[in-house]
Formats: sequence, C-alpha cells, structure tokens
Amino acid sequence: MSNTDSTRLRIAIQKSGRLSDESQALLKGCGLKINLADRRLLSHVANMPIDLMLVRSSDIPGLVMDGICDLGIVGDNTLEEHELERVLKGESADYDKILSLKFGGCRLSIALPEEMEYTGVKSLDGLRLATTYPRLLNRFAEENGIKFEMCQLNGSVEVAPRVGLADGICDLVSTGATLEANGLKEVAEIYRSKAALIKRTDGLSDEKQTILNTLLPRIQGVLKARESKYIMLHAPKDKLNEVVALMPGTETPTVLPLAERDDRVAVHVVSTETFFWETMEQLTDLGCNSILVMPIEKMMG
Ligand code: ATP
Repeated sequence: MSNTDSTRLRIAIQKSGRLSDESQALLKGCGLKINLADRRLLSHVANMPIDLMLVRSSDIPGLVMDGICDLGIVGDNTLEEHELERVLKGESADYDKILSLKFGGCRLSIALPEEMEYTGVKSLDGLRLATTYPRLLNRFAEENGIKFEMCQLNGSVEVAPRVGLADGICDLVSTGATLEANGLKEVAEIYRSKAALIKRTDGLSDEKQTILNTLLPRIQGVLKARESKYIMLHAPKDKLNEVVALMPGTETPTVLPLAERDDRVAVHVVSTETFFWETMEQLTDLGCNSILVMPIEKMMG
C-alpha cells in the first residue's frame, strides 16, 4: 500500500509532543498556511498542494519507508530504532535523509541510581535496563562486548529503577533535570540525535518533485536565517579590516559613507554564526559605535 495521490506532497509530522511545535513553525516559516485547529489526521495546506499527516513520532519512519507519506520530520533516534527493527525482521527500511534540522537535539544515555558504583562500561554488564529504544541499546551492548537484560517501556522510563522494574535506564536526555529529579546519574551517552527531514526513496511524481523543489530551498532558507544576524555599526575607516575580521561568518561587508564624517563609515554585514557580547566589546574597543544586531526572517540565494 502507498500514497496514490500524485499531485499533493504529503508530509508526516508529530501530532503533539516535543517536535510538533518546531515542525509546524518550520513549515509556517516556509510560507505554508497551516490550520491544525481541528486536529484531523490529514490537514490540507491552504496555499500549496501539500497535506500534513499528524501522527505519533514513532509512526513517521514507517509511513515514509512504506511510501504512505512523501516526507517526514522525525528524530534521528526514532528513525534509527525503527530502521534497526525492520532490518532485524528482514523488512525493507529505505529512506533518504535530506536535511538535519537543527532542533530536537538530545542524547540517548544510560543512567543509574546515584548510589550505584560505575567505573566504566563493563560495570553495566549483566544489568537490567528499562528503555524505549531496545535496538539502539542492543547495538551499543554488542559494540562494547557486554550484555543487558532489557525491559521495554513506552513511557515513564525514569521511574523504573525506583519501583524495582530495572537496575537503570537508557533514555533520552536534554538537560538532565529529569534524571536528577529521579535520583539518577548519566553514565554513558550512546547516541546523539536531532530532528531530520526524510523522504521516501521510491521516486516522486513530477508534480510532487516540483513542489519539493520549491519547498527545500525555503526550508534551508529558514534554517540559515535562524542562525544568522544582520549587523550594522559605525567604524573608524582606518580600522575597517580589523573590524571585519572580528565578525564571524560574514561575507563581503557593505561599507557606506556617513554624512559629514570622513574618518568613519557605516558597515553592514550578515553574520551566519552566533554573535557574542564579547565580540561587541572588542568592536567597541576598536572604536566602533551604534552597533545593532538584528534577527533575519528569511534568506535565499
Ligand atoms: P510519540 O509521538 O511517538 O509519542 P515520543 O514519545 O518520542 O513520540 P516526545 O517525548 O514528544 O515523543 O519526543 C519526540 C522526540 O523529541 C524524541 O524522539 C527526540 O527525538 C526529541 N527529543 C528532544 N529532547 C528530548 C528529551 N529531552 N526527551 C525526549 N525526547 C526528546
């Protein structure tokens, strides 16, 4: 079974959860008019031939691999776990990862009760671990020549040691606050994940490919704009090279004359890296003033 509509691009996104707001914001940033108020499974984008399928994160890899959806936004962790599961069952697990999306960052880590001794990976040998990601955990065990007893849970993994279900856990962590609140310490990071844009591999119709050709540069534009800043400042003319050298990730700056000032110029640049307070302080030390750092909404070309 696969998606037989050849004219509307179908994208699977998480219905609700950690990736859903960012996924929607990304697509809205690309100009898609999305109205998810009624929370239907399939939502039509009003101004482009695109449909959004709102599903659980764990369903997204399979929907794309089976061609039910053309694209999907999903965490690398969910994707790789599903891929390993299919490969173990001898099923097809094809997809193309077209972009890493720079949100939904987290790590899959093993955590043990604070009082438990840990001196290295071998301390984990023979433990019973609760996890939602048994295949990723198994791969780690095989790579390290150790064995775990596995207890698969789909939620509330962090309480498993406290209620006597397991010795420790293997779960997703971003800040570590949940682990700390449950008296657990992170001892081994086994996988790093971010959200990714994936595509089915069995070829898109010409109409869908055309929609994708429009959408992809927009997604890249939104991601690039998020990291970039437009910087304007006034600089002493004789320090121009030093000033430009201080600004990270900039291309050719625009240098403009200032009314009634021969010794100073206005400099405008797009910086594609984080712009730190320290850099602003160094610019002021060089004699710059009127320094403005502004967000950019969209970028292309
Ligand atoms: P489902 O939609 O199937 O219920 P889920 O239970 O994985 O999926 P969430 O907890 O919303 O749902 O997590 C979705 C994804 O968000 C994760 O798979 C992971 O890629 C990412 N993520 C980022 N930070 C974290 C974190 N601290 N804990 C859990 N997931 C995180």
